[in-house]
Amino acid sequence: MGSDRLRVAIVGGGIGGLAAANALVRRGIEVTVFEQAPALGEVGAGVLITPNSVRQLARMGLGEAVAELGGRVGAGSRYCRTDGSTVGPIRTADSEGAHGVYGMHRADLLGALAGALPAGVVRTGHRCVGFEQDAGSARLAFADGARAEADVVVAADGIHSALQRYVAEPAEPVYSGHVAYRGLIASDALPSWPRDAHLVWMGEGKHFMVYPVRGGGLLNYVGFLPSADAAEETWSGVGDPDALRAAFTGWDPLVGELLSRVETTYWWGLYDREPLPKWTNGRLTLLGDAAHPMLPHLGQGANQSIEDGVALAVMLDGGSPEDAPRALRSYEEFRRPRTAKVQEGARANGRRYDSQYEDLRERDAEIAASGELRAWLYDHDVELRAGEFARA
Ligand SMILES: Cc1cc2nc3c(=O)[nH]c(=O)nc-3n(C[C@H](O)[C@H](O)[C@H](O)COP(=O)(O)OP(=O)(O)OC[C@H]3O[C@@H](n4cnc5c(N)ncnc54)[C@H](O)[C@@H]3O)c2cc1C
Repeated sequence: MGSDRLRVAIVGGGIGGLAAANALVRRGIEVTVFEQAPALGEVGAGVLITPNSVRQLARMGLGEAVAELGGRVGAGSRYCRTDGSTVGPIRTADSEGAHGVYGMHRADLLGALAGALPAGVVRTGHRCVGFEQDAGSARLAFADGARAEADVVVAADGIHSALQRYVAEPAEPVYSGHVAYRGLIASDALPSWPRDAHLVWMGEGKHFMVYPVRGGGLLNYVGFLPSADAAEETWSGVGDPDALRAAFTGWDPLVGELLSRVETTYWWGLYDREPLPKWTNGRLTLLGDAAHPMLPHLGQGANQSIEDGVALAVMLDGGSPEDAPRALRSYEEFRRPRTAKVQEGARANGRRYDSQYEDLRERDAEIAASGELRAWLYDHDVELRAGEFARA
């Protein structure tokens, strides 16, 4: 049997795992994060952090870090046609105007989340290779022979989760036919560029977006384009800048100006998956990409994983080790409908951004009305709602 104080083991020290650890520590729950990498990762470019998670990061004491390290997305943000003409504004705050949207370098966000945790919570160099459980506890095995025991195991081990198979049949990845090229450009190299703008250009089968990171000192760009070869689902493939430039030739000169500065670019293959039927098995539950891998077209992968961590902490708060499987089922019941809707929404938004419409006026009307979907995403206070759900 476990001790009276709940012990949680999180497998994976990505944004989801570290956000969950912060949310659990804040509620006095004992937590250890096991990350396979020898050190917390520097890989990746920008992620958009939206008000639904900024609100929660602020409660974790990370509001200042987000404001200092992030690039606040400002009022000139907009959706455009390939020639640069405006389709509609991009929402940049929640309905109250209390929390904004920030572009953050993934490494900065990971660093802030890790830095806010007490020493010893994160154990790097631990690749989880095995899981077993009985009525009293759960046990993890690691590649180097180390073992750990806990009352709850959270699989926050990403899109290629090793622990997902202990819960549900892994969802088949379906190649979307698109790859994303991304990278960072110093803003100083583009003096006329609007530093705080999130801009999205939508064309047939392709789209391009730019947003600020690191106080606007860097611009994060992502170009989404079709590729017949099913590219690898990795974040570190090195792409060809000329292929990227060629794909957007003839678009708004602003796009051409930025692309002329690209020296190194990274690409990844975009895969889609159906929502999983189940996230929880006894003392094991899934979180973040392991639970709900989604296309990036609503910019919610990181944000939904942060929401997951907060909801999980609310459900486990005050509970006993014996009670943990029930709390995990509540977490799943509460989170699955929202994340499934976001997964589906990301798919639909990809069709809009890639202009897959006979009549582009239909696309433009949907884009112009997308503030409503953004309000649904951004106004959600997961801590408040999870508390209500737990008490109901
Ligand atoms: C390297 C990388 C770069 C990314 N770059 C971007 C980006 O530029 N833009 C963007 O929008 N999104 C990016 N993402 C995705 C985005 O970060 C995620 O959608 C979101 O943060 C939710 O992630 P997660 O915490 O569920 O999983 P992840 O961020 O994938 O984190 C999973 C963690 O688990 C660890 N792990 C995996 N297997 C094991 C194991 N068996 N044992 C122990 N640890 C394990 C991994 O090393 C990783 O640290 C990136 C993800 C990764 C991994």
